Amino acid sequence: VMASMAHLQEEKLRLQEELLELREKLTAQEKNKLSHSLQLQSQVDTLKAKLLEQAQEISRLHSELGGTDVEKDLLVTENERLRQEMKACEGELQELRRQQQVPCQDCIHLQENTELQEQLSQLQQEAEETRAKLAELDLEVQQKTNRLAEVELRLKDSLAERAEEEERLSRRLRDSQETIASLKSQPQQIKYIIKTVEVESAKAKQALCESQSRNQYLQEQVGMQRQVLKEMEQQLQNSQKTVAQLRAQIMMYEAELERAHGQMLEEMQAMEEEKNRAIEEAFSRAQVEMKAVHENLAGVRTNLLTLQPALRTLTHDYNSLKCQVRDFPLLLQETLQSARAEISQAIEEVNTTNRELLRKYRRELQLRKKCHNELVRLKGNIRVFGRVRPITKEDGEGPEAANAVTFDDDDDTVLHLLHKGKQVSFELDKVFPPKASQEEVFQEVQALVTSCIDGYNVCIFAYGQTGAGKTYTMEGTAANPGINQRALQLLFSEVRGKAADWDYAISVSAAEIYNEALRDLLGKEPQEKLEIKLCPNGSGQLYVPGLTEFRVQSVEDINKVFEFGHVNRVTECTNLNEHSSRSHALLIVTVRGLDRSTGLRTTGKLNLVDLAGSERVGRSGAEGSRLREAQHINKSLSALGDVIYALRSRQAHVPFRNSKLTYLLQDSLSGDSKTLMMVQVSPAEKNTSETLCSLKFAERVRSVELGPVSRKAELASWPSQEQLEGDSPGTATTPGRGHVSSIGPGHLSSRVASIRRKLQASG
Ligand code: ADP
Ligand code: MG
Repeated sequence: VMASMAHLQEEKLRLQEELLELREKLTAQEKNKLSHSLQLQSQVDTLKAKLLEQAQEISRLHSELGGTDVEKDLLVTENERLRQEMKACEGELQELRRQQQVPCQDCIHLQENTELQEQLSQLQQEAEETRAKLAELDLEVQQKTNRLAEVELRLKDSLAERAEEEERLSRRLRDSQETIASLKSQPQQIKYIIKTVEVESAKAKQALCESQSRNQYLQEQVGMQRQVLKEMEQQLQNSQKTVAQLRAQIMMYEAELERAHGQMLEEMQAMEEEKNRAIEEAFSRAQVEMKAVHENLAGVRTNLLTLQPALRTLTHDYNSLKCQVRDFPLLLQETLQSARAEISQAIEEVNTTNRELLRKYRRELQLRKKCHNELVRLKGNIRVFGRVRPITKEDGEGPEAANAVTFDDDDDTVLHLLHKGKQVSFELDKVFPPKASQEEVFQEVQALVTSCIDGYNVCIFAYGQTGAGKTYTMEGTAANPGINQRALQLLFSEVRGKAADWDYAISVSAAEIYNEALRDLLGKEPQEKLEIKLCPNGSGQLYVPGLTEFRVQSVEDINKVFEFGHVNRVTECTNLNEHSSRSHALLIVTVRGLDRSTGLRTTGKLNLVDLAGSERVGRSGAEGSRLREAQHINKSLSALGDVIYALRSRQAHVPFRNSKLTYLLQDSLSGDSKTLMMVQVSPAEKNTSETLCSLKFAERVRSVELGPVSRKAELASWPSQEQLEGDSPGTATTPGRGHVSSIGPGHLSSRVASIRRKLQASG
């Protein structure tokens, strides 16, 4: 809320600034307008003065040139019109002044206006010049007229003089002629008179001549004067013409002036309109903006109003929080103290409970081990299952492919075989009919697999003639995996479940025994024959130097290992089916565990063995390598049977060394180990004799007892591969310090060891 208030305050300030800016703009525009109007006023004033002058000049010119009344009237009306125009201009000016309150944002016509004004002033100057010229010409005309009037006057005077002279002379002529006539009437006298007259007449004649010549001269002079007058008149006419021309020019100028004036007025008007429009636009824009600003302001105000209560509550909250914060350290200290006390108490309680639990756990472990041992003892260390595969296409058709195996619906341990018309019954620990799924089979096996986690050694063998389903049971198909993959998956999930207390490492080796030669299927050189050696630490354990061991952590890892082993096996033989049926395939899973709370270490081995085909080849007359293979297979399988028999009958000597297989699995067959023999049989009629053999083998093996189960657990460290390979016996774990050796020729030796331990313990 505070943030939004601050934001609103900022917004308000911003808007106020904008408002101030707009106001400044307005005042600037007003100033502009004022100066503009002042300028216009001064222009109007000068125009007024000029107009007055012009009117005076025109009236003067008119009076000088003797303009008619009509012209005068015209000029007066013109003058009047101009005055009215001027008034209109003034009115407009006033209007402009009134509108000064309204701002003009940017008068773009100002420049145009000034240009027009310049034009106008130019035109006015021209008119002025023309007027000056006109005045000059008028002056000249005036002077000439004056001179003309003088000349005329002089001419009149001289004419009057001449007329007087003429009159005087004609009077004298008349007088003379009268005298002459009277004299003629008086001849004597006349003669005399004539004579005198003649004398006098000569004089008169001379005078006449003189006056005539003078007259002549005067007449010449008059002619001349007339000529001059004519010229003068001509000049006057010309002048008048010029005057008329000039007047017309003046008129033209005036018209032009008027037009320019009109144009100027029009433009001024247009500009005025433009200005008004711009002003209006600016005004409306400003109004809209103002409105928006007002609205914003109103919004801000309402916001402020709504925010105030929130602020009040916030302040209140803040104050109460402040109080709480002030009180908090004390409270915290108190709470911490009490919490500490509670926690230490709880820890104490937990510790005692833990101790109690650990004690119970250990007791439980012992109990479980005891129970397990009891169970195994009851069930027997060697368990034998039978699995009958379904009849397949490979069995063919007809009586040979007929089913020879039947089951007991009420007893899943019994199996009946019809052999040569006789029914033979067998009792095993469990019988899986053809319809039993991989899953069901594994359910019966999984207890064995998990006991491996507890440190027991386990062997699971698939025994039977070729094609009876050994590989199917152990490996299975990709879609329906067998015991191998399921066992590893189960181990992973079990190990995960115990991860809270235990650290487990699961590793895998894969080997093959063919013709009594042991080969590493995961090694880089699968051809190499491996040896089984006694552990140099004196523990009596066996190990295979060079046997590859892969640490696996997921199902993907196992799949990779299987694939790798398979590839190795395939590349080493030409016919895998035949080869695999004549060799034993071993998958050895080692599970090493460490109980973090007790330091107890366990190691369990799970041996999953797909045995070679148990069919008796020798009888069918095999030769060469095939015979050798068959001999090796027979040897190793009967050695397995012998070992189990020796163990069952608790013989002092168990012939583990009679075959590579039994020697290798010595650890996992003797003493505390558990063995499962899965006897695979075919139900087909044609296989009954082999089925009979397999079932007999199963029955024989089933009755063998292994020694009491003990757990291979130790508090000291489990010897690693390096230690096993090292030859110093000093580093070996000493039996008796929690380690129970599984090595020894069977049950008796372990019993002896246990008695010895008891004696040592009792001192
Ligand atoms: P072996 O390994 O003993 O020589 P296989 O496991 O190769 O025999 O089995 C031979 C054939 O029988 C194979 O095609 C296999 O898929 C089939 N088969 C074996 N057991 C079963 C079974 N339980 N269900 C279905 N098919 C089986
Ligand atoms: Mg097979």
